[in-house]
Amino acid sequence: MSALELRDVEVEYDRRGGGKVRAVAGASLSVERGQIVGLVGESGCGKSSLARAAVGLVAPTAGTVRFEGREVTPLTRRARPRELVRLQMVFQNPYSSLNPRRKVGSQLADGGPRTRVGELLELVGLPASAAARYPHQFSGGQRQRIAIARVLAADPTVIVLDEPLASLDASAQAQIANLLVSLARGLDLSLLLISHDLAIVRHVADVVSVMYLGRMVETGATRPLWQLPLHPYTEALIAAVPHADGSGFLPEALPGEVPDPANPPPGCRFNPRCPYAFDRCVAEEPPLLPLPGDRRSACWLRDTKPG
Ligand code: SF4
Repeated sequence: MSALELRDVEVEYDRRGGGKVRAVAGASLSVERGQIVGLVGESGCGKSSLARAAVGLVAPTAGTVRFEGREVTPLTRRARPRELVRLQMVFQNPYSSLNPRRKVGSQLADGGPRTRVGELLELVGLPASAAARYPHQFSGGQRQRIAIARVLAADPTVIVLDEPLASLDASAQAQIANLLVSLARGLDLSLLLISHDLAIVRHVADVVSVMYLGRMVETGATRPLWQLPLHPYTEALIAAVPHADGSGFLPEALPGEVPDPANPPPGCRFNPRCPYAFDRCVAEEPPLLPLPGDRRSACWLRDTKPG
C-alpha cells in the first residue's frame, strides 16, 4: 500500500466568461513510505491543482486519491476526518499558514497533538527562543522552517509541499532542501515535492514525475531519469537547467509557451513544441508506456509496437 496514491485524477475549474478548464487531465502518481517524490513541470502545467487534490483541498472531477489506502475524495466532502490530520501540506508562502499576530510558540502548540514546541523548533533547526517571537521577526527561510514545524506538530506521515522554496534566495533554498531530506530520512516521512526547479528536485527526490499540460509525461528514479531522459519534454527541461559553473544553459531548448489547457493540441500535447514530432504525434495521444528499469514515458518514440 502506497503512502499516497493518485489514480487518473482530473481537476476542472470554471472559466471566467463560461466553460471549463481541465487543469489536470488524468494524472497518476504514488508516493511510497519514506520516499521523496518530485513533481516538476512549467507554470500552468497543473502541478498545484494536483497538489491541492492530493490533500483534499479540491475535489477531483474524476479519479481517486488514497492516503494510506483510505480514499480522500469522498471523506473531504464532510468535515476533515481525524485520519487525514497526518496528511499535511506546506505552501509557497509561509505567511498563508502563519498568523502574523500570534507568537510562534503558541501557533506551534495548537498545531496538533505534538505540543513540545522546543522539540519542533529544534527539528527544523531553530533555537527554542524563536517561540517567543512573531513571524515577521524572521527571514523568509526561517519563516518556511516555522511553517514546516507547524505541519510537523500534527505528526504527519505524508507532507505535500507546493513550491516551498520558490520565494527564497539560493542559500535559503539549499538549506531548506537539506532540511527536507533530513526530516524525511529521520522521521520516515513521505514527501511529495512540487517544484518548477529541476535542480532542486534532482538534489532532493528519490523519484521524479514530469507533468505537462495536465498529464504525466515521464516518471522514474531520479538519477537514471536525469542521466537519460526518455521524453523530449524532460530532455528539454533538463537541458534548460544552468550548470553550477554557469555553462550548459540552452535557452532555446524549450521554445514556445505551455498551450491553453482549455484548448490542448490534438494528439500528443507536446507536439507543437517537440523537435521530434512526426505524423502519429498529431493523430493520437500517447499513453504513459511502461519501460524497462521501472520507467514510464508518454511518447510514441518509445512505443515498441508498430503504430
Ligand atoms: Fe514528441 Fe511525438 Fe513524443 Fe510527443 S509523442 S513527445 S510529439 S515525439
